Amino acid sequence: MVDGRGRLILTVTRACDLRCAYCPTAKDGWPALSPDDAVAAVRLFADRYGGGDVKLFGGEPLLVPEVVQAALDEAARQPRIRQIYLSTNGLGLNSARIEALARHEKLILTVSMDGRPEDHRRLRKGRGSVPDAYDHLVGLLPHLLALPRFVVTQTIAPSTAAQAAANFAHLVGLGIRRFNLLPGYYLPWKADQLDALDRGFAEIGAAFRADWAAGGRLYLRNLFTWAPTAFFNSGLVVDADRSIHPANVGLSGALEGLLGQTRVGDLDDPPSPEALAEAAARVPALLEGALSAEVLRSTAAVDRALGRLVEGLYPAWFAQRRARHSAGGAATKSGEPKSADIETTGIVGGSSPRSAL
Ligand code: SF4
Repeated sequence: MVDGRGRLILTVTRACDLRCAYCPTAKDGWPALSPDDAVAAVRLFADRYGGGDVKLFGGEPLLVPEVVQAALDEAARQPRIRQIYLSTNGLGLNSARIEALARHEKLILTVSMDGRPEDHRRLRKGRGSVPDAYDHLVGLLPHLLALPRFVVTQTIAPSTAAQAAANFAHLVGLGIRRFNLLPGYYLPWKADQLDALDRGFAEIGAAFRADWAAGGRLYLRNLFTWAPTAFFNSGLVVDADRSIHPANVGLSGALEGLLGQTRVGDLDDPPSPEALAEAAARVPALLEGALSAEVLRSTAAVDRALGRLVEGLYPAWFAQRRARHSAGGAATKSGEPKSADIETTGIVGGSSPRSAL
């Protein structure tokens, strides 16, 4: 955490205007961070922990746009902040906001989509009078696709595992080229659903290989994302109540009881980097004690399936990079993975590929 490659995860609010079928987040009864809290957290991360990447997270971050703005502005001012990820369901986006976000050079905008409209609508139910999430996003796609760093997180629930490849193909058909695949961790998966996930990943992997062999530009963020704990983000985690944790496991309503054990300070009394690292090392054992054997087994199986996809894609990924380099080095065009991304994958460290919401 002191070499500029750490992660700050800001849960700017736990509130959300959707109620997705697979979402574990405890949303009600929490405060939101203030703009001053966001600025203080980014400064703390840069000064005490060496900086790196910032993730703006929720709930739905764009329900508090002034907090998002404050974090983005502070990240732009801090040379030790490398990139800032904004993960959103997209309902808070409009063309003017997308235009404003495009001016932030460090921003990577990540929008969650499930794929075909029937699956998106079935799994992402709105609260009250919120607009249809699928129609809203598709209407904004011309603006989103013009952004240099726009990524779609394709969420895959156990109930849509058999449609994973069809949903991926649908999103590609909409013009989307940059993906992060997110199967549902910490949920019970049945054996037939896990088999379907494997088949879906095999088809998606074949689509990536075919695209790269034809000189295409499909991008899979999972190739560059590594974490010690599947699904949950780890690093310097600042929750919506300003408390600090080594991972956001307590975001899940089922694991709220762990919050007292993972808490290592708050924005007024932050832990040392060493104390944060020690607390992080305790998280896997806490999870094992809190989750059912079935959920732990499912999570491990889902993670292995994603790992097989990612590891199976590396040879084709490196081959297409070599081909592009020898054709004139066009691979570092804006929005495409650069050599720095390769360096941060942890390939040498021998960890497992993970995905995080
Ligand atoms: S998955 Fe995201 S968009 Fe869906 S309910 Fe949870 S926080 Fe909201």
